[in-house]
Amino acid sequence: MSNWFFLAPELLELTSITVPEELYRHFRALRLKKGDDIVLSDGKGRAYAARLESINQVGADVSVLEELELCTEPPLEIILFPAVLKGEKMNIVIRQSIELGACRIVPVFTERTIVRMDQYKKKLKRDHWQQIALSAASQCRRTRVPLVEPPLGLEGMIELLQDKELSLVPWEEEQKVSLCTLLQERTPPSSLAIFSGPEGGISHAEMEKLKKIKNLHTVSLGPRILRAETAPLAVLSSVVCLWE
Ligand code: SAH
Repeated sequence: MSNWFFLAPELLELTSITVPEELYRHFRALRLKKGDDIVLSDGKGRAYAARLESINQVGADVSVLEELELCTEPPLEIILFPAVLKGEKMNIVIRQSIELGACRIVPVFTERTIVRMDQYKKKLKRDHWQQIALSAASQCRRTRVPLVEPPLGLEGMIELLQDKELSLVPWEEEQKVSLCTLLQERTPPSSLAIFSGPEGGISHAEMEKLKKIKNLHTVSLGPRILRAETAPLAVLSSVVCLWE
């Protein structure tokens, strides 16, 4: 399969494009050659077959050949609200949740979140996470680049969850409802929200607030305690396995 790149939608309206500097450097790093077939996606749902017409010391030109009929986006909108995790763990959650089909990621600071950030650090982190999202989306050939939104506190997330068709919260203390049973018994919604807790878990006070949200279900992922970075990925893989 050809290399996959994202390009601004307005550039993709042209049939012949001199690629922007950043993409040119990417082509060079991959040692692409004249005549190589590539795919260019606008990151908003469209992808096109394209060919590298020239590449030299100063720039590269591509021609856009035809729109591709591809279906790499999940049939339901999956919004992941992961509690902010330490360092590399958060990068893993972002990268792998995008491979599994997450459409939007909204990091959440909770009572037991270990990481602390000021506004400046939050902005830097968000840019870094969005970069990871872009490279994950290109690696797994998504036609939409998932957005990593500014981090919220629990109250901010609760507001967003109020009008959701279905929200799932994996919780190790849930004894009755298993994720798999819930997924098997329901017809897929058009949109699904998933909130998973930080390393130290979700506090009881937080859980009391969450349980008041309409259409929100706590679910068990089995008898073992999963690490905070494993739990959201386990939920996502079950969702896409049963509903995609
Ligand atoms: N408080 C716990 C573990 C937290 S695990 C402790 O330290 O013992 C981090 C998050 O992963 C939890 O908040 C929950 O969202 C999820 N999680 C881990 N294991 C789970 C399980 N077996 N079922 C459901 N959710 C789980």
